[in-house]
Amino acid sequence: MSPRVPMLDLRPQIDALWPELERCTHEVLRSGRFILGPNVEAFEQECAAYLGVRHAVAVNSGTDALLIGLRALGIGPGDEVITTAFTFVATAEAVSHTGATPVFVDIRADTFGIDPERVRAAIGPRTRAILPVHLFGHAADMDPLLSIAKEHDLVVLEDVAQAFGATYEGRKLGSLGAAAAFSFFPAKNLGAYGDGGLLTTDNEGIAQQARALRVHGSVERYAPTCLGYNSRLDELQAAILRVKLPHVDRWNEARRRVAKEYDERLRTIPGVQVPIEASYAHHVYHQYTARILEGRRDQAKLALEAAGISSAIYYPKPLHQLSIYAGSETRLPITEQASKEVLSLPISPDLPSDTIAEIATTLAAGL
Ligand SMILES: *Cc1c(COP(=O)(O)O)cnc(C)c1O
Repeated sequence: MSPRVPMLDLRPQIDALWPELERCTHEVLRSGRFILGPNVEAFEQECAAYLGVRHAVAVNSGTDALLIGLRALGIGPGDEVITTAFTFVATAEAVSHTGATPVFVDIRADTFGIDPERVRAAIGPRTRAILPVHLFGHAADMDPLLSIAKEHDLVVLEDVAQAFGATYEGRKLGSLGAAAAFSFFPAKNLGAYGDGGLLTTDNEGIAQQARALRVHGSVERYAPTCLGYNSRLDELQAAILRVKLPHVDRWNEARRRVAKEYDERLRTIPGVQVPIEASYAHHVYHQYTARILEGRRDQAKLALEAAGISSAIYYPKPLHQLSIYAGSETRLPITEQASKEVLSLPISPDLPSDTIAEIATTLAAGL
């Protein structure tokens, strides 16, 4: 049985945009052009303008944006990439697929972002890159990361899959590192109706390399100069994303209002810690993730479930504890504790106030 209150319901947004969606999808179908056409080009330019970057290269998924980004930055076998274990598996998977090794370091307890001091301590002779994740829509602490990278001649690739439109010290995420990877998976803050991703950079060479990698390593057709991928965005997704892009700021602000309502209702419940917004961050709440203390998280989740309310644990197993990365002796106490305490509650720009109130009451009663 599907829950009465799902984590995310995309249908109100689809209904609201229906006339535009109908028009743009019909136009694409009638055009007979489906892969890397005029909508993809226009979407790349609109994203570059929105994010304040020189180049945006649309690809097949966020995972591919990470992989192609790493490859375009020259990361490969023998290299080490310092990243977080408190993220979706795709972050580290992309590193591994280049032949490089992800080196996991701990996070800060307050924002779940990678801890710059741990990054500094993990730098070795093979370290080539830092891969911070702007988790749940909240910026990683970029200035210290960027200065550490500069000091040690490393590149920074941002994982912005969960944070389209969020900022760090007023600067758009995805414009701060050497390159950045976005995802348009349907549930993300800017979501397509299928898979999609984007690589952004100010560097012409990196952009060119990424454009080649997404079409089998060829700048000129049938003349590949490196081993690439089939990783293109299609016209239907680009047309849909172009309809949605002008609304993303409004949706993010609506998410912030929902988060504020949650904060007010949850912060007085003993044993619940509401998410924190650091002074440098403008949070876009891809997830509203609270901590449930004293070992009561799973019981809280069950209480919500019994009332027909969804909740989710992002992420129950930190990456260094997955079988694919096991064997590492890494201990990440802050990450491990977070994975035992976090609980993400339903959030969308149009989540009604009475539903928020009901979720808070049910949570309080279940503790
Ligand atoms: C969703 C996500 C990805 C992967 O994006 P896809 O489009 O699903 O491939 C990568 N990193 C993080 C942090 C994500 O949340």
